[in-house]
Amino acid sequence: MTTPIRIPFNKPCIAGAELSYVAQAISGGHASGDGPFTKKAERLMQDAFGAHRVLLTTSCTAALELAALLCDLGPGDEVIMPSFTFVSTANAVVLRGAKPVFVDVRADTHNLDERLIERAITPRTKAIFPVHYAGVPCEMDEIMSIAHRHGLMVVEDAAQGVNARYKGRPLGTIGQLGCYSFHETKNFSCGEGGALVVNDPALTQRAEILREKGTNRSQFLRGQVDKYTWTDVGSSYVPSDMLAAYLLGQLENMDRITARRGAICDSYARALAPLAQRGLIGLPWTPPDCTPNHHMFYVLARDIAERTALIAHLRAAGILSVFHYVPLHSAPFAGTIGVPRTELPVTDDTSARLLRLPLYFDLTDAEVTEVAARIRDFYETREAA
Ligand SMILES: *Cc1c(COP(=O)(O)O)cnc(C)c1O
Repeated sequence: MTTPIRIPFNKPCIAGAELSYVAQAISGGHASGDGPFTKKAERLMQDAFGAHRVLLTTSCTAALELAALLCDLGPGDEVIMPSFTFVSTANAVVLRGAKPVFVDVRADTHNLDERLIERAITPRTKAIFPVHYAGVPCEMDEIMSIAHRHGLMVVEDAAQGVNARYKGRPLGTIGQLGCYSFHETKNFSCGEGGALVVNDPALTQRAEILREKGTNRSQFLRGQVDKYTWTDVGSSYVPSDMLAAYLLGQLENMDRITARRGAICDSYARALAPLAQRGLIGLPWTPPDCTPNHHMFYVLARDIAERTALIAHLRAAGILSVFHYVPLHSAPFAGTIGVPRTELPVTDDTSARLLRLPLYFDLTDAEVTEVAARIRDFYETREAA
C-alpha cells in the first residue's frame, strides 16, 4: 500500500475576502466577464505594477495566444524562446503557423541565455519570448537592447513572475507585452486565470478587440462607439467576474502571500545549505538587483538517478515533490513542426536534475522542517552506504 500524501506539492489558499467576493459577484447580477471585480483586479495590478493596461484573461495560455496575435505572427516567422518552459509559450507561436527557435538557458537561473540570442536571429525572426523561470528575472536590459537593435517584439512569459522585479521594474511590464498566470499552482490564483499586460499603448485597442471575440464591445461599453460589431479576428479570452472576484481577494493580499512564501524559501535554504556546501545538491540563485516573488523552491540533484531516488524517498514519507520540464526541443511534437534537432546542453542537464519542493501559503514551519530533514537523511544514508 502506498503511503498517503501528508504534504502535497501545492494547495490553494484563502488569504482574504475571496469567498465573500465570489458570492457578491454572483448575487450582484454580473457574473459574466468584465464586471466590477474584473475592473478592480485589473486596476489593482495597473497601480501596483505601474502598468499601462492589464487585461484579465482565462489563462496565461490565452494571454500568450493574444500576444502572438498582436505580434502579427504568421507562417515563416520565427520566435526565439527557451526550450526549458511550459508548452504554452511555444503553442502560442505554433498556433499562428510560426516556428519556435529554441535557445539554451543559463545554468544559474535556468533563464533564456541572453548571450546566445543574437546568433539565433535570422531575417525571419520576429519576436523574443523570454520566460522568467521561478519568478527570477531574465537579463531584460540585454534582451531589450538586442530586440531594439534587430527590430523585434518582446513578449515576457511572466506566468511565474507576478510581483517580482528586475532592477525595480515589475516583470511583465518591460517588453511590449507581458503574460501572467493565476493557475492554481502560481503565487496568486483563481483556479484558472491569467492576464495580458499591454505596455505599448499602440497595442491596447487591438488587444481589447481580440480578447472580446474580435468585436469592439469594450469601446461600445465605454460609449466610444455607438454600435458593437465584428472588427477583427479574436476569441473568447474574457474570464467570468466570479473568477476575477476570487483573484481580487488574492491580489489584495499579494504582499502577505509573497512574504510567507519568502519565509518558507529562506527556511528551506537555511536547512539545506549544509548539503549544498558539501556539493551534494544545488540551490536556487537570484541575481543582484532583482526582487524575487518566491514562486518556487527547488534542489538540483547530481544526476537523474539520484533525483528519481530522492522523489521516491520523499514520497515514502508522504511528501510530494515534482520535476519539470521535459525540454520542448526534444519533445515528440517538435519533430513534426520542423524544429531542428539542436543540442541544448544546459536545458537537458537542468531538466534531468531539478526537483521542486512543496511551497504554498499554508505550508507550516514544521512541514518545511520535515521536508528538509527527509532530504538530509536521504543524503546521509547515501553517504553512509
Ligand atoms: C503556468 C505557466 C504557463 C501557463 O499558464 P496557464 O495560466 O495555466 O495557462 C505558461 N508559461 C509558464 C512559464 C508557466 O509556468
